[in-house]
Amino acid sequence: MCAVRAGGGHLRRTNRRPMLSPKRPFSRESVEKKPRIRGAAVKRSVCPYCAVGCAQLAYVKDGVLLDVEGDPESPINRGTLCPKGAATYQYAVNPLRITQVMYRAPYAERWEIKSLEWAMDRIAQRIKQTRDETFVEKLPDGKTVNACYAIESLGGATLDNEENYMIKKLLCGGLGIIPIENQARI
Ligand code: SF4
Repeated sequence: MCAVRAGGGHLRRTNRRPMLSPKRPFSRESVEKKPRIRGAAVKRSVCPYCAVGCAQLAYVKDGVLLDVEGDPESPINRGTLCPKGAATYQYAVNPLRITQVMYRAPYAERWEIKSLEWAMDRIAQRIKQTRDETFVEKLPDGKTVNACYAIESLGGATLDNEENYMIKKLLCGGLGIIPIENQARI
């Protein structure tokens, strides 16, 4: 005999055997199955998508990311994630992730495929060249500004805390770039 919850929420007695009897047979495969995150290191992280800042747990084993889920200890999300945050694993591990860039040279009619390394070098060269040509050390009234007004930065909502920190520190504090904006605020 066991107790089951009736429709009205009260407990009542029944002679039916419970569905999950300990005598239920298990296949060898079921018995030997283990969670795929067993033995994985758990790293605390923050969802990269929006300013709610839901906390996440990232499971890593042998340098490979196995899973990302909500952190139950977070007072913000208490273990939950919205559909976007719940798909964070696919954001990090995805064979469809773009690993090359399309480049069209000035006045060219065709796009070319270039590597990310090439694109990073090109961006660094163009930033240096533009900053060297336009850097303003002092205003006409003699006030020191050390500013570069010819470059702007527009970030995306998938930038995480660390990336935004680096952007602000490098571009503003290091290079003197003033207009730094983020798509999530616009
Ligand atoms: S899980 Fe959803 S609500 Fe939470 S930070 Fe990520 S995108 Fe925002």
